[in-house]
Amino acid sequence: MTNHTTEYCPECGHKMDVVPGYVTWCEECNWNIDPNWRHISSLGLLERINYRMGFKKSHQLLEENLHTERIMYPLTWRKALAYLLAGSVHAATFSLPIIAVNWFFYSNSVLLTQLAFVLFLLFIGLMLPYRRKLSGQPLRREEYPGLYRLADDIAGAIQAPPIDEIRMTNSYNAYFTKFGRRRTKIIGIGVPLFSALSLSEKIAILAHETAHHAHKDVTRSWFIESARHIMASWYEFVHPYCEEGEVLGPISTPIRYAQLLLANLIFILYYGLGITVWDESQRAEYLADRVAGEIAGTDAACSALSKCHFAPVFWLTAERIARYRFASDLFGEFRQKMEHIPAGEQKRVQRICDSIAVQLDSTHPPTQYRLKSLQHHQVLTPQYVPDSSLKNQLEEEFARLEKLSQRYLLDDIRAAL
Ligand SMILES: [Zn+2]
Ligand SMILES: [Zn+2]
Repeated sequence: MTNHTTEYCPECGHKMDVVPGYVTWCEECNWNIDPNWRHISSLGLLERINYRMGFKKSHQLLEENLHTERIMYPLTWRKALAYLLAGSVHAATFSLPIIAVNWFFYSNSVLLTQLAFVLFLLFIGLMLPYRRKLSGQPLRREEYPGLYRLADDIAGAIQAPPIDEIRMTNSYNAYFTKFGRRRTKIIGIGVPLFSALSLSEKIAILAHETAHHAHKDVTRSWFIESARHIMASWYEFVHPYCEEGEVLGPISTPIRYAQLLLANLIFILYYGLGITVWDESQRAEYLADRVAGEIAGTDAACSALSKCHFAPVFWLTAERIARYRFASDLFGEFRQKMEHIPAGEQKRVQRICDSIAVQLDSTHPPTQYRLKSLQHHQVLTPQYVPDSSLKNQLEEEFARLEKLSQRYLLDDIRAAL
């Protein structure tokens, strides 16, 4: 590297190499090893549960997974409790309109009649699961026939029902979800992540996401999912707004303090439900990884998983291009960067993969465990390999997606600069 400088770690004073376009981090104390790392207090409700479940339980689940031939979802007392909890949430929610109707028709008090309206509006507010917006934009089957054929082939190989919609996003990830009243099955493809992957690695990621749909765990059932959603809405609705550093006391602000207590109660319930379904959602991740290994081969599944940690390199490249260059190929440049990864960056990602504390995102088991599990159930020959005409078609379609994504990305970044 020609423009290679050094800086000193703000935590321990150790010398750090600065290579432009890659993360500057401290090899001595791991300072800034994962720029996306956030303190637990800034995590979402769901993520906090995983964080607190601890590593011991996580390790137990890894062991269980290594020693089972076929992963199943047994009916445990925890799961029964989850249904009970979710059932009470639904019952409480549906009692709102019943009370409202009662007050409206059978009470003589004006106040209660007015309150009935409020309750009814509250019920509608809580029951609006569809106000969540999906990220990305839908791709039409006619315009991306190769991509849809790939998704259909993979679903066929896994014996999953076919995907209804593929969406492209500008994030460094991929997702599977069901959306809306008709439960449309959607796969989201983050163009930045996919631009770093070989075709078999892309297949591995798609197979993992599709497997979630073929082998649904309890967290993906409507009953539990909607109960969680309703509780999150309650929490948001009740939680009082606080200034930074403000502490609510019972004397100074009694109403807001009561709101805080109620919000905490809801959080405890939410947390309880999360704990009861946690085992199964982790089992589902191992199962989805196994499927990815079978479909795309273990090597592709492992390298795809490791490449998921290079998001900071992508964002640094994007920011640099947004700042200085006006007509260049963002994704081409990123791929070049991925081909010439300096030793320091390789070490950083290796350390993340080796560490149990650093997880890809907190709804998945630690990367180190996932890699162990993949290698334990090694598959040398991938079950699915697309033919050469599909390969060419996919290459053309991904090039088109990259052009589209680059336009949005650079516009967004430039607007924020
Ligand atoms: Zn340091
Ligand atoms: Zn997953």
